[in-house]
Amino acid sequence: LSLCHVSSTSENVSQRRRLLHHFISKVSPSVITEENNRLGQDAFTLAVKDNIATAAAMDDSFSLQTTCASSFLMGYRSPFEATIVTQLRARGAVVVGKTNLDEFGMGSHSTYSTFGAVAQEQDNKGDDIGSGVVVLRHSAGGSSGGSAVAVAVGDADVALGTDTGGSVRLPAAYTGVVGFKPSYGMLSRHGVVPYANSLDTVGLLARSVYAVTRLVIVSGLWAEHDPKDPTSLSAAARKRCSAGREGYHYNQDDKTSSTEGMLKGIKFGLPLEYNIEELDPRIRDAWAAAASVLQSLGARIVPVSLPSTRHALSTYYVIAPAEASSNLAKYDGVRYGFRASEDSAAATAATTAAAERDGNIPLPGAEEENKSDSGGRSNHVLYSATRGQGFGREVKRRILLGSYTLSSEAMDNYFIQAQKVRRVVRRDFDRAFRLPNPLLGETEEEQQQQFDLSDLPESIPMEDKFGPTQVDFLLCPTAPTLAPLLDDVLDQEKDVTKAYMNDVFTVPASLAGLPAVSIPVEVEAAAAPGGGGFVGLQLIGQYWDDARLLKVAGAVS
Ligand code: GLN
Repeated sequence: LSLCHVSSTSENVSQRRRLLHHFISKVSPSVITEENNRLGQDAFTLAVKDNIATAAAMDDSFSLQTTCASSFLMGYRSPFEATIVTQLRARGAVVVGKTNLDEFGMGSHSTYSTFGAVAQEQDNKGDDIGSGVVVLRHSAGGSSGGSAVAVAVGDADVALGTDTGGSVRLPAAYTGVVGFKPSYGMLSRHGVVPYANSLDTVGLLARSVYAVTRLVIVSGLWAEHDPKDPTSLSAAARKRCSAGREGYHYNQDDKTSSTEGMLKGIKFGLPLEYNIEELDPRIRDAWAAAASVLQSLGARIVPVSLPSTRHALSTYYVIAPAEASSNLAKYDGVRYGFRASEDSAAATAATTAAAERDGNIPLPGAEEENKSDSGGRSNHVLYSATRGQGFGREVKRRILLGSYTLSSEAMDNYFIQAQKVRRVVRRDFDRAFRLPNPLLGETEEEQQQQFDLSDLPESIPMEDKFGPTQVDFLLCPTAPTLAPLLDDVLDQEKDVTKAYMNDVFTVPASLAGLPAVSIPVEVEAAAAPGGGGFVGLQLIGQYWDDARLLKVAGAVS
């Protein structure tokens, strides 16, 4: 089909691009071959983002570290395996290695890694590397950049990533692969190192939508409750969410459903608020072209309004760091992970003392915490030296931001407001979709309660320009720009909020817990000077409409 010019095979991608630093640790080739042979035709290779636990399952060489790309967890071996890894291995996955990421999943370019930045490299004409032209290094997106690259170059058939605010979809868009974020609570997160619990999902990256559909829908992963994950939907809740949607599930035997048949009557909404000034014209063109292809295939295209879109980004960057600061409190150098040396802790104590002498305000609570432990060391000094050395820059920024917005003087103005805006974001989506949100409750009263937004700040728009539009899916770009040059990204670190901007189209679906998939469209070399020639188009569906979302995504890619 003509919507996506990119082919689903790895060859045309891997010949053109060489990618760097995408694995943190690898399984030995002999173990991979052995496993491949054992599993026969079911076997497929799987790369696992390094914030997902892998454990000794077959032999020692399989006992890979789980580092989250943090100095804190360097050399850490999990005693257990994440449920999602076990589930995929039961379906024929051969784990090939652990992939690089932004530390603890915090970032948009996979540059905040203690192992160095992930990059995608190509010459300035988009040709083979080594033909003598200048080599350009582009961002692979983040935070699942290593997973996206492993798939893009053919090192793995499928990769696991995590998507809290776009970390599967953004790298997929930048590297030209498919990235799927499921409905919140569908796939198990047991064994996934938490970043922001109310947003975290496990996602899949692959070169075709079908590879994702085969695992998530056809093999029944979507239906499996995990008792070890408290946010995994119970069997009863899954049943309730699926009620009335049986026909939407993928039917392997249905050979009659042509693309046209599948798209006929399906209504796609184009959210007007996503057409922002900063949108790269090549992305706007690809978006418009995709809409007209869909129309020519019998689908209906209508404009929709999601007025809360512009508030979603700031809301996300209050909620995610708040949850992160709480999650990361456990890394204290006492229970596990990295611990600062005596010498460096002493140096920290000296710096703190000097700061106090110079009149800088000592940290709150320092006095009580500063009592010596039995070894004669100050706990406070141990914590601060350990956390100061163990965490990278971006993680520290998030901890500071999160601790501030949760503090008593800021809580009401930031965290509480953000939670309210999150409800408006959900309401916007629920108004746009034809299907009701199964989480809203069954009775009208229950649903009304969810929509009671009378306590909202005045600046939040309440009115929907177009009224209820009742679409099946939303079609929009995954990111406002193509993959930027890595040097520009590293330069931008002076203004970190620029990187946050890349998440503007991915965070709304995350805040609402909705399923979304990024599918690649290749931009002609001439239209993409300097390479980085992929646009990601995003399809967003109503909660638990994952099967139909993937079906439609498969039809158009
Ligand atoms: N870029 C976003 C962040 O830094 C999203 C990360 C993610 O989805 N893990 O928070």
